[in-house]
Amino acid sequence: MQQSDLLDKVVSLCKRRGFIFPGSEIYGGLRGTWDYGPLGSELKFNLKQAWWQEMVRNQENVVGIQAAIMMNSRVWEASGHTESFTDPLVECKICHSRIRADQEEEIKTHEGTHKEQKTEWTEPKKFNLLVEAKLGVVEGEKSTVYLRGEITQGVHVNFKNVLDSIRVKIPFGIAQIGKAFRNEITPGNFTYRSREFEQMELQWYIKSDRKEAEKWFEYFKEKRMNWYLSLGMDKNKLRFRQHESDEKAHYARDAWDIEYQTPFGWKECEGIHDRGDWDLSRHAKFSGQDMSYLDPETNEKYMPHIIETSGGVDRALLFFLLDAYSEELMTNDQRQTTRVVLKLHPKLASYKAAVFPLLANKPQLVEKAREIFKNLKTTGLNVAWDDRGNIGKRYYSQDEIGTPACITIDYQTLEDGTVTIRDRDTTEQKRVDEKEIAPTLNTSYLD
Ligand code: ATP
Repeated sequence: MQQSDLLDKVVSLCKRRGFIFPGSEIYGGLRGTWDYGPLGSELKFNLKQAWWQEMVRNQENVVGIQAAIMMNSRVWEASGHTESFTDPLVECKICHSRIRADQEEEIKTHEGTHKEQKTEWTEPKKFNLLVEAKLGVVEGEKSTVYLRGEITQGVHVNFKNVLDSIRVKIPFGIAQIGKAFRNEITPGNFTYRSREFEQMELQWYIKSDRKEAEKWFEYFKEKRMNWYLSLGMDKNKLRFRQHESDEKAHYARDAWDIEYQTPFGWKECEGIHDRGDWDLSRHAKFSGQDMSYLDPETNEKYMPHIIETSGGVDRALLFFLLDAYSEELMTNDQRQTTRVVLKLHPKLASYKAAVFPLLANKPQLVEKAREIFKNLKTTGLNVAWDDRGNIGKRYYSQDEIGTPACITIDYQTLEDGTVTIRDRDTTEQKRVDEKEIAPTLNTSYLD
């Protein structure tokens, strides 16, 4: 399979099988927005859960919050977003299209569309990415609010609330997953650059000490890379890249990206940033509140520094899909067919297993299969039911959506209570007792 076809194949699979649809499609769409369908919602939920499990619940000193999307506009003044959350933009003098000045490939592609004329560009202009909304009921008196451009600030403005309500001591972290909005100039590459997307972030508060910052920075770089690897991402397609000094965001002292090799180049999946004491100092200044930390043991008072890990849920999901998509040539009855398999990690897969009666027109088989299906559902596993077409077609259909195991109920099941479990990746089948299905799924796939 050509790498250049991969994105198109994933986009089409996502639409066809209910992972991701274009936003507001029946009205012609809304650029930069995407809707997650039945299978996409499950996958996204599993992805967020895997992140939360690792970054919050498995840790001793990380707590989570859910802040509001709309915040007092002063927050964005303090954080520097009203002033500095900008992209440099150039405008084509022929057709007035606007493109980010740092997107060389897009600029070249655009120039190709004006073959006859020589494209000229305006000087780069700054364009603010914050999305505005109007709040209030009286016309003329509505106030402008911004839909948050990053989820980070909702955490920092609650720093004191968390400290005062939960017993945490530095070093500690506050995690959040939620939506962010950006007026992206050139949304594209499917969900990679959207105008509405989700982020998953940890803000880690530490002592204001260079050595501490360096230590934790390295710690989180490794931890975050390992998370992608632990969920099966190809290690040859992952790398770190440090930001050049002119590329760093206004708050960042040091910034490294975890990048994934997509069909459209190496692209950022997540950033690890040393934010220094920028956020808390600025909020202290703009709100007039004391945002410092008093060490209960040493009585030392200081403004904590922050190391953040900031990943995109939608980007990670897209990269997991690109990584998992594979096509295999199979020989069946001397005929060659292509099997599409999404080799998603079972923890991410939308369904953990599918249950089939061997034949849909044999009531005894269907009854037994439904009993097994229902029992599996009570164990908390998300399982699918399929009784359409023949078994071969059902296997292919489940392979294409990444279901790790298919369970078939046949005549032998009625005699001795055993079923076949067929593995998505090896296509091998083994017989297990029906009581062993859930433990087998848990140990072979989900541990
Ligand atoms: P880029 O350089 O690609 O615009 P960024 O450096 O501005 O990204 P951050 O502000 O560091 O991104 O945001 C953290 C994470 O949020 C990114 O690593 C990415 O996964 C995700 N993200 C940012 N912008 C978008 C977007 N427009 N669509 C989808 N995900 C995004």
